[in-house]
Amino acid sequence: MAPSVHKLALIAVAACLCSVSASAQTGVLNIYSARHYQTDEALYANFSQSTGIKINRLDGKEEELVERIRNEGKASPADLLITVDAARLEVADSLGLFQPVSSKLLDERIPAALRTPTWYSFSTRARVIVYNQAAVKREQVQSYADLAMPALKGQVCMRSGSHPYNLSLGAAVISHEGEAKAEAWARGLVANFARAPKGGDTDQIKAVAAGECGVTISNTYYLVRMMRSSRPEDLRAMKAVSVVWPNQSSWGTHINVSGAGLLKHAPNRDAAIRFLEYLASDQAQAYFAEGNNEWPVVKGIVQANPTLAALGSFKPDQLPIGELAKATVLAQKAFDRAGWK
Ligand code: FE
Repeated sequence: MAPSVHKLALIAVAACLCSVSASAQTGVLNIYSARHYQTDEALYANFSQSTGIKINRLDGKEEELVERIRNEGKASPADLLITVDAARLEVADSLGLFQPVSSKLLDERIPAALRTPTWYSFSTRARVIVYNQAAVKREQVQSYADLAMPALKGQVCMRSGSHPYNLSLGAAVISHEGEAKAEAWARGLVANFARAPKGGDTDQIKAVAAGECGVTISNTYYLVRMMRSSRPEDLRAMKAVSVVWPNQSSWGTHINVSGAGLLKHAPNRDAAIRFLEYLASDQAQAYFAEGNNEWPVVKGIVQANPTLAALGSFKPDQLPIGELAKATVLAQKAFDRAGWK
């Protein structure tokens, strides 16, 4: 009996080793993602095909994913968090959810201003001024500061001051002009509101198109999405509005990002870094950006998005994204003081 038990044990050990080496070869990667666009499916499928690494993805709202990662603690199966906006990445970062990554490839591919020690940007969007041609003159709305001028009283529509997109914009204003000016700017905006903040960027664009207000601020991809829409009412709305690249004669148009970070307790660290590096590849960059009508961060990527290209070129804010992210907390305080709900 003894030898056969011994033999069975050996077989079990061999089988066990075999499965370990198989899993090391194929591997898995667990991604928590607050980004869910159809083209992202191809992005994940290509990675699995070329590496043999299976991706398990949990899609959800940023706040829920962050809460989940916190609750799971050291036992969290999550390797990566993918989300949008520096303000949100900063929330995850300030909670200590990320760990630093050292990757020569990422440092080479992603511009220094678009990465931090703990998270990376993979696409960019701009926050632009959108105005109704019949209600407002183009000269009146050349900068973010212009929207706080008394001449635009009752003309400004904005989404909530607590939304990450506006907090990041506020962080840019603080970084360039200081807290006092940012607060005064927010006060001026609030004084010009046509209505109390409600809805998202697309709702503001539609309100401007309908003449309910004269001007708003929106992320570029919402505009491109409406321009590419097959719904006649969206195309009609886009005919009624014009877009301005703000602050071209000062610090440039505020830029934000989609990004990702390696989680502190990532069980599949190597696979996760491989995926981050993959996101910086030519092919993935085009997919990642195209998924939400954004610009790739890696220079020279050809993106098949003529509508996005038609927006033209502009002078972007050069502020490092990590510096911007850190100021978002101050922006919330300044907006609170100014009464931007
Ligand atoms: Fe958005």
